[in-house]
Amino acid sequence: MKDTGFLIVLSGFAGSGKGTIMKELLSRYPDEYALSVSATTRQPRPGEAEGREYFFKTTEAFEQMIADDELLEYARYVDHYYGTPRSYVTEQLAACKNVILEIEIQGALQIRERFPETLLLFVTPPSAQILRDRLVGRGTETPEVIHSRLARAVEEADGCEVYDYLIINDDLDACVEEVHHIIRSERCRMRHRLSRIEAIKQDLKKYVKGEQI
Ligand code: 5GP
Repeated sequence: MKDTGFLIVLSGFAGSGKGTIMKELLSRYPDEYALSVSATTRQPRPGEAEGREYFFKTTEAFEQMIADDELLEYARYVDHYYGTPRSYVTEQLAACKNVILEIEIQGALQIRERFPETLLLFVTPPSAQILRDRLVGRGTETPEVIHSRLARAVEEADGCEVYDYLIINDDLDACVEEVHHIIRSERCRMRHRLSRIEAIKQDLKKYVKGEQI
C-alpha cells in the first residue's frame, strides 16, 4: 500500500528565502516533491517566465477562474490577486507527491480549513535587519513596494502562530535539509498512516483465524 500525497504550505516574509528553499528541495529530491505554480495578476519581474514562476493573468481572467471554481484558495496581496490552481495540486497528490504551495497567510488559512492535515511551515530570516537588507538588495522593487511589503510583514508576523513549524533561514543548505526532515517525519505520524495500520490489522486478524491473505 502506498502513502497518499501530502500537502505543505510554505509561507514567510518576502525576502525570507522561501522561494530558494523550495527550488533547492525540488532539485535535491525531484521524485518526492511537486511545486504548485500560482496564478497572479501582478506583472512579471525581469527573468520570470509564464508558467514557471506564475501564470500571469489579467484581473478579468483571474476573476473568471474564481467564478469557475478553478482555485483551491486565493487572496489579495499588495493590490494583486494570487491563487492556487486546483487541477495540478489534485493530480500531484494522486501521484503521491509532497505538494508545496508557496503562498501567503490568508491563503494558508483557507487551505488549512479545507484540508486540516496540511503541514504549515513559516520561514523567517534571523532578524528584521537582515530582512530589510535583503529586500532592498534585491533591487527589483520600488521603495513604495518595499515599504508596503515591510508593513505587510508586520501583519504576517502577527498571524504566524498558527503555523506548525518556524524555519529560521540563516544557512540555506541546513535549512533545506531541516525542511526535508520535518516533512519526512510528519508523513510518519500515526494520523497520516491510519489506513496503512488498518490494512495490517485486518491481515493480522485473518492470520489469527487461519485464513490465507
Ligand atoms: P511575489 O509577488 O513576491 O511573487 O509574492 C507575493 C506573496 O504572494 C508571497 O508571500 C507569496 O508567497 C504569495 N503567493 C504566491 N502565490 C500565491 C497563491 O497562489 N496564493 C496566495 N494566497 N498567496 C500566494
